[in-house]
Amino acid sequence: MRRNRNIKILATLGPASSTRESIAALFAAGADVFRINMSHTRHDVLRELVGHVRAVEAETGRPIGILADLQGPKLRIGAFANGPVMLSAGDVFTLHLDPVPGDASGVSLPHKEILSALRPGARLLLDDGRISLKVTEARADRAVTIVEIGGRLSDRKGVNVPDTQLPIPAMTEKDRADLSAAVEADVDWIALSFVQTAADVAEAKKLVMGRAGVMAKIEKPQAVAQLDAILEVADGIMIARGDLGVELPLEDVPGRQKQINRAARRAGKPVVVATQMLESMIEKPAPTRAEVSDVATAVFEGADAVMLSAESAAGAWPVEAVATMNRVAERVEGESFYRSIVEAQRAEPEATAADAITAAAHQIAENLNVAAIVTYTASGATALRASRERPNVPILALSPVLKTARRLAIGWGLHCLMVEEPRDLDGMVEQACKLAYREGFAKPGQRVIVICGVPLGTPGATNLLRIALVGRSQD
Ligand code: PEP
Repeated sequence: MRRNRNIKILATLGPASSTRESIAALFAAGADVFRINMSHTRHDVLRELVGHVRAVEAETGRPIGILADLQGPKLRIGAFANGPVMLSAGDVFTLHLDPVPGDASGVSLPHKEILSALRPGARLLLDDGRISLKVTEARADRAVTIVEIGGRLSDRKGVNVPDTQLPIPAMTEKDRADLSAAVEADVDWIALSFVQTAADVAEAKKLVMGRAGVMAKIEKPQAVAQLDAILEVADGIMIARGDLGVELPLEDVPGRQKQINRAARRAGKPVVVATQMLESMIEKPAPTRAEVSDVATAVFEGADAVMLSAESAAGAWPVEAVATMNRVAERVEGESFYRSIVEAQRAEPEATAADAITAAAHQIAENLNVAAIVTYTASGATALRASRERPNVPILALSPVLKTARRLAIGWGLHCLMVEEPRDLDGMVEQACKLAYREGFAKPGQRVIVICGVPLGTPGATNLLRIALVGRSQD
């Protein structure tokens, strides 16, 4: 079973999609990777969802990726004594450490490290940025603020501090427990929220120890400023436009999306465009024109994946949302100018054997009428370098390691398969042709490009490219 598009679809699981049957329906509609949001998922439910995805994988014979998204240090205010309060522009409002119920003059902010990091002039954004406060007086135990944009404020609303580098790690105790449960449940990716520095990512990687890929969610201006350093350490990037659009002016988000996408493509790390892609489909069976254009923009940018959040997790139309993304991606990739737009951002090969060979494969695919590129990949590195080329033909990523095949499910243009390691080079070429035919990528008489490393099974030894003919005997 093959997809007819390069970009991948990530669907978040939740109450609207938590049974094996509904996960199978999302997969059939086009979901390639499933996201489990650890902000809302208990460990027993996490294990159950992973079990359902693995059952669908066994039924379909296709490796499926699973991403566990850690909550991160979500900052929240305390509760109010008599229900919500109304704040108006110009009001003075104090945030303090006292664990007492709040009122219209102030409320507790039970994060002493935040209060001590705030400086006069810094902004605090409450309730997804609906309310904006500016600090006028900062002390270790309180911040006096003036309300810039008012509104109704209720208990435990979220707080963003876009102008302040927080002296806190990206992982809380809950995140560490969630990370350990997710790795034990054998998920393929861990996403890290509210990353500020490369050190945050390095810390998570130390805990994960290669058992999953670590994806850095870029949702703070501090992370955008550190993007290159973060990209060096992270295995993948999520453009988390929800919080990014709170921390930055909304009109800055499209530019940052392009910047992050290009940088990740240059680095050859999978990049996911996330949040509110088909938001109206939480309630309605059809998207708006603007949402379709938003998905199309990510496809034209050559992003690795587009993501659904509440649309598939808690909406009324989860399968329709995935099917809509699938349809939009297929149609956009079929446009005559799609190739030239994706090609315009192609990253030059770096000075490695894998880059030289995958760039050559791309070149040959353009010169000759080949049906597919087939890469053998143990760690996944060669397949990702082939994907980085964004070639004009599909890439089959064959791996003897199931974990690798699952992790690569997120990568642009990659059709992953778990295979037995062939005995010799002839066996590799024969198997590549057979699978390209069996999976519907090549017909007898067509050519494929095979990339591999000899001696077999040596990680990082990509050193061989063969043009092979798919024989008539495949019929
Ligand atoms: C986001 O903020 O865009 C995002 C994906 O993070 P979360 O949904 O986990 O807050």
